[in-house]
Parts: sequence; C-alpha cells; structure tokens
Amino acid sequence: MSAARPPRFPLALDQMGRTGTPAKPRETLRPQRHLHEAAKDAARHTLPQGLGLDSVQVRQRMVQRLRAEGIRCEPVFAAMEQVHRHLFVDTALAIQAYEDTSLPIGHGQTISKPSVVARMIELLFDGAAARASGHLGSTLEIGTGCGYQTALLARLARRVVSIERLRPLFDKATANLAAWRFDHVRLVYGDGMLGHAPNAPYDSLIAAAGGDELPGAWLDQLAVGGRLVAPMHRSGGRGQVLVVVDRRESGLVRTEHESVHFVPLKSGIV
Ligand code: SAH
Repeated sequence: MSAARPPRFPLALDQMGRTGTPAKPRETLRPQRHLHEAAKDAARHTLPQGLGLDSVQVRQRMVQRLRAEGIRCEPVFAAMEQVHRHLFVDTALAIQAYEDTSLPIGHGQTISKPSVVARMIELLFDGAAARASGHLGSTLEIGTGCGYQTALLARLARRVVSIERLRPLFDKATANLAAWRFDHVRLVYGDGMLGHAPNAPYDSLIAAAGGDELPGAWLDQLAVGGRLVAPMHRSGGRGQVLVVVDRRESGLVRTEHESVHFVPLKSGIV
C-alpha cells in the first residue's frame, strides 16, 4: 500500500495519538458541503457500494428477495444468478434491472417482472413431465420480447422454441441472445397464437401475453404429461389470472392461480 495514501478517519485519530500529528477534521467532517454535491453522491450510490451491475451479488440479492416472497424453484434461481438482466434493457433503465419491476422494452411491450417470470417457471416445473425429468423438456415460449426469459429457459429446458410477432423485438432478442450461441434455442418470427407445429409436441409451454381464451393450437401441441402456463382474462372481464393446463392421459386439466397483468396477446405479425 502506498505511504502517501490518506488514512481513514479512525486511523487518523490513532496516528495523532502515536505521532502527535494534528488531525485535520475539516477534511473529514464537512457539514457545510453543498447539497447538490451530496445529491450527486447519493445518485452514484443507488447500488450497494462496490457492486457493479455485473456483480453476481446483485443477482443473488434479487434471488434472495424472490425466495423471501415464497417462490420455491432452485433451478430458476440458479439460472437467474447466471443471466445478466441489465443486458436485456436499455442502458438508461439498466440501474433498475435487478428490482422486481417490469420495464419498457419499446414498441409498447415490457420485460416481465422477475417474480412473475420465476413464478411461472416454478409452475412449469410442477408439471408431470418436468417433475419426472427434472427439466422443462421441449419448451415453447410465446412472446420472446427482449429474450430475457428465453435465456433462462435455455438453461432449464432440453430445447426452446420462442416466437415473437413484432419484427423489431424479434431482431432485438436475436441480437441479445447471439453472444450465447445456444444450439438448442430457436427464435421464430411469427404468430405465436398458432404455436409452432414443426417442433410439437411440447412438454412445457409458457406465454408472456394474455388473451381471452387459450388458443386451440397450444392445447393441441401439448405433450401428454406436459404443462402450459399462460395469463388469461378472467371470465367476466375482471383482470387476468395465471392459468395452468396439464395434458393427462385422461384429457386436459385446468387450474387458475394468482392475478397478473400482462400485455395483450395479439394475432398476426407486424
Ligand atoms: N418474456 C418477454 C416478455 C415480452 S412482453 C421478455 O422478458 O421480454 C410479451 C411479448 O409477447 C411482446 O413482445 C409481444 O409482442 C409478444 N406477443 C403478443 N402476442 C403475440 C403472438 N400472438 N405471438 C408472438 N408474440 C406475441
């Protein structure tokens, strides 16, 4: 350590005791410091001191908060600790990337809240095929958006097909995911309401946009033992809920879970 480095305040006191060098309190205690300087300092410290956005501790903190909320899904937590969410949003919003909030990704769409993403994937892991295999198997994602959830699914599934209907977002997700060179992830520009027949049937199907009813293609393309998780408008029009559909040997079984708020599922491509 350089001898020229100024000692910290407690050291300065100690030094004064040993050497008799007078401390210079005005360098340490500056009660008249301009307010705007303090405000600038505060703005610089929105992250815990010493932690950059790339730090694994920032992602671990986000995961700890999701655990505290009652989500129990270790595989998704492991994936969330690896994937840098701030790289999927605009630079100006990066500072908020590890808060439990949805953020705009352009074109009127949003990246989903981490707690909702984790909860939906937790529900997928509770499907029969996923419980038997310990992974999500062949997975279809509707609504790629910026590709954050796709990057998580890539770590949890044997294969991922993800569909986006807005060309600029399809391009953005393609760019965001390029660095990983996932061989088992296929991004499709198309209308996800039709599912994606060439790779059907799917063990897991997850939708990031909600409509009035589940498209028939999704149900048709669900494997036996497979599970679908999607937001859907409650009958009677009072908001959306997460709907889970399991395909069993005996047929389809549907359950409803918590209230959510997703962007609308729309047909056609733009
Ligand atoms: N998981 C995404 C969420 C994006 S928001 C993320 O983390 O970024 C939902 C996305 O669903 C939007 O990008 C919207 O364009 C897309 N979407 C809506 N209807 C769709 C459809 N029929 N087919 C494919 N994508 C659709």
